[in-house]
Amino acid sequence: MPATFHGNVFLVAAPSGAGKSSLVNALLAQEPNIELSISCTTRPMRPGETNGQHYHFVSLEQYQQLRDSNNLLEHAEVHGNFYGTPAQPVEQALATGKDVLLEIDWQGARQVRERFPKAIGIFILPPSIQALEERLRKRGQDDDSVIARRLLAAGGEMAHVGEFQYAIINDDFDVALAQLQAIIQASRLRTAQQAARYADLFDQLGISASVAAN
Ligand code: 5GP
Repeated sequence: MPATFHGNVFLVAAPSGAGKSSLVNALLAQEPNIELSISCTTRPMRPGETNGQHYHFVSLEQYQQLRDSNNLLEHAEVHGNFYGTPAQPVEQALATGKDVLLEIDWQGARQVRERFPKAIGIFILPPSIQALEERLRKRGQDDDSVIARRLLAAGGEMAHVGEFQYAIINDDFDVALAQLQAIIQASRLRTAQQAARYADLFDQLGISASVAAN
């Protein structure tokens, strides 16, 4: 791998209940070369979640300390809780040529784009507003007031879909997963990425200058 080769940054956003985490987990099970960024959050842990796997669950004080010491690549308040992406694991993975996937909201995505303008934004949409509400209820992990608040927030999140290059409608899970994989593949095949990954080949073929000029 050439020293200058950097992995892709994938930003995946969705309103709560669009099925984002299930899709991302299925993708990662098939794509070992993508590293999932583990965010830190002040939100209470839900049943079935594991500290350090789903999130780094931190106190408000710990979160503020991470944020104020510039250890977060981005940070945002979402549904009344604080979230942030630890910078170091992302930078380390990218430097070794690994792709990194961040499951974050639109506010965080904006901040990451400032740092990584070539980040690839993917937005997951529900097939209908009814389906979204049903999925939120089926989870059974939050009480009614939380669900109502998240449904309201869903509209706010979806209003930012235009800031993402790709929009997947998660109606049929397998179709949506295939579409997500297609985006990953196409992103990896962009000429600039290929030229960086296969620098020796591009040199041998005498085409490096053509890529550099564009
Ligand atoms: P949940 O608490 O349901 O896991 O996530 C709620 C929302 O917070 C989702 O929209 C999720 O994408 C967003 N989120 C999770 N981690 C981060 C993060 O590190 N940064 C930002 N900006 N949003 C995050």
